[in-house]
Amino acid sequence: MDLTDSAPDTEFRLEARAWLRANVPARPLPSGDTRAGFAAHVQWERQLFEAGWSVVSWPKEYGGRDVDLWQWLIFEEEYYRAGAPQRVTQNGIFLLAPTVFRFGSREQQQRILPRMAAAEDLWCQAWSEPGAGSDLAALSSRATRDDDAGGWRLNGHKTWSTRGAFCTHAFGLFRSGGPDQARHRGLTYVMVPLDAPGVTVRGFSRLDGDEGFADLYFQDVFVPDADVLGDRHDGWRVAMATTGSERGLTLRSPGRYRATFERLRALARARPGGVDQRLADELVSCWLDVEAYTRYTEQTVTRIIDGTETGARSSLNKLHWSELDVRLHELALELLGPEAALDGPWTRGHQFSLAGPIYAGTNEIQRDIVAERLLGLPRSR
Ligand SMILES: Cc1cc2nc3c(=O)[nH]c(=O)nc-3n(C[C@H](O)[C@H](O)[C@H](O)COP(=O)(O)OP(=O)(O)OC[C@H]3O[C@@H](n4cnc5c(N)ncnc54)[C@H](O)[C@@H]3O)c2cc1C
Repeated sequence: MDLTDSAPDTEFRLEARAWLRANVPARPLPSGDTRAGFAAHVQWERQLFEAGWSVVSWPKEYGGRDVDLWQWLIFEEEYYRAGAPQRVTQNGIFLLAPTVFRFGSREQQQRILPRMAAAEDLWCQAWSEPGAGSDLAALSSRATRDDDAGGWRLNGHKTWSTRGAFCTHAFGLFRSGGPDQARHRGLTYVMVPLDAPGVTVRGFSRLDGDEGFADLYFQDVFVPDADVLGDRHDGWRVAMATTGSERGLTLRSPGRYRATFERLRALARARPGGVDQRLADELVSCWLDVEAYTRYTEQTVTRIIDGTETGARSSLNKLHWSELDVRLHELALELLGPEAALDGPWTRGHQFSLAGPIYAGTNEIQRDIVAERLLGLPRSR
């Protein structure tokens, strides 16, 4: 296997690098989980779109460059290397979009994807409920059939919706089947504008003070059939495709960890007195894990291009990237010493890394999936 860039890949890399060097804001934008910071990030996303860099692997008609997944990985690597802003469109472009490509009708693709690419419509994920987190199939928000109007009436309460207070649209799972249907069966996947009559959005703060989350309340909210993704009552299957993207390829590409490791290496080099053998070993071990993640992702891309589904392997992936992120940041705090107590990018990054083993499905649940579906161990419950 030849892992060096081909000539067209090198050309693409250099073009992306040059554009990013010229355009990435010199000063980091304020947190995208605050109202003002989110607005600044959306402006940046629109600049990316205007220059054709917002969704490079999508077809041109939807705003992309039609490049393959290898070049998408290259773009991601360059993006993080350049220290470019966090993508506040991520729940749309990395979670919903792959699902729309797979399950959406042509009409839905044409209507939804270009506005998503242009950061005109900003999407949040409305899955979790106060009584349904790890056990997502326990959700009780309902979609009730309204035949006269040709659609559904939504009722219920969703929570932990990342940046929901600032987004314009949500995609969510609702219970549409009767009481006799199996829990995973009677669910429908819908897309809904957050300014629809009957939707109430209430933002709330994370531990770090940013208003990063929202509760979403639905009271008789009408959704036409055109906004159901996949078949009615088949929402679980559609949702599992979304989790495959969230845990698998798109949400956390290796470029993110390579860039974090480079910053960590610079921190170690600049440390007064250098690093002792134990810290040096830790650094090497982190580097190996970043490289392993890169190689694993290359294998995943090869499999996807060959038409193999990622399936439960995405859980293995999620375990790796979330635990790696914690290790990289813990090591940074150790290198910083007493300075780690001060508010700064490493401290904030560390706080967020601690959420990694929780969001996208907790790591306990991912270990269960790996044990049962990849290793074939007996079910524990
Ligand atoms: C930063 C962040 C962003 C998020 N963004 C979104 C979002 O945009 N949209 C959205 O819908 N949700 C979002 N979530 C919610 C997230 O999906 C849930 O927090 C997660 O699924 C866990 O659910 P829970 O919090 O209800 O915990 P619980 O399900 O109550 O779990 C509590 C603990 O029990 C363990 N546990 C539960 N069941 C089992 C079991 N069967 N076996 C072993 N251990 C078990 C869990 O692993 C966990 O440690 C986000 C969460 C975070 C932290």
